[in-house]
Formats: sequence, C-alpha cells, structure tokens
Amino acid sequence: MTETYEPACQCGAVTIRLTGAPRVRGHCHCEDCRTLLDVPFHSVTAWNADQLEVTEGEAHLTTFQHPSLTMKKVSCDTCGEVIWNTNGMDWRVVSQRFLERALGGLPEELTAQSHFFYDRRIFDIADDLPKKP
Ligand SMILES: [Zn+2]
Ligand SMILES: [Zn+2]
Repeated sequence: MTETYEPACQCGAVTIRLTGAPRVRGHCHCEDCRTLLDVPFHSVTAWNADQLEVTEGEAHLTTFQHPSLTMKKVSCDTCGEVIWNTNGMDWRVVSQRFLERALGGLPEELTAQSHFFYDRRIFDIADDLPKKP
C-alpha cells in the first residue's frame, strides 16, 4: 500500500500531499541547513520532487532562493512556516517537526534512521542512531 500524508501549514492556507516513502529520513548536521534555516541541526524527511504535490493554497507559497547556497526555502506567505526546502539535488526536504505538528504525531515510518554530516555538528547527540560523517 502506498502511504500518503497531507500536512497543512500553521494557518491552514497551504496543504501538501506526500506520497510513498521518503528517500532519506534523519538528522542533518550540515552547515547549509544551519545557514538556511537557523537551526542547530535539521530533522528531515527528503522526497523526490514528484512525491510532493501542493493540494491547496499554491498561491500562498513564497519561494526564497538563498543567495549563496543551491537551496530554496518555500514558505506560506500568511503564517511564515517553511513547508519544504530544496537541497543541492533538488529533493524536497520536509521537516520532521512540521510533519509531527501537522499530522498530530510523527508516523513511525517517517522517524529518523540516522544522523548524517555528523562530523560537521555543533554539539554531540546522545542517542543510539547511527552517526554518519
Ligand atoms: Zn500558513
Ligand atoms: Zn543539511
């Protein structure tokens, strides 16, 4: 069975549909995520472009192309929540925290499986997940 998820932003103007299983799910410790999103690390699910569809509120989306990174940030123009960002491979990177809030809990199959770019971290994490450089 193909899973689908339909999270909406905080104000409800934008809804997306994610289909299938993410390519990657984990905690990213790279400096690009830190720079783009102002977070110490980014807990992500990463999807192919064709796995993400905007089902409501497309007109409310605003896209910011970072001036020095090959990354974009796509937000709701009403509540300001980041719905997804893109990475250098043009994947659709959707925050686990966004999904957790919008879906009323993070489904088990979307939880983190590892830490990556862990050698670029700004602090250590004490959990049992694999830590990849
Ligand atoms: Zn919104
Ligand atoms: Zn990153």
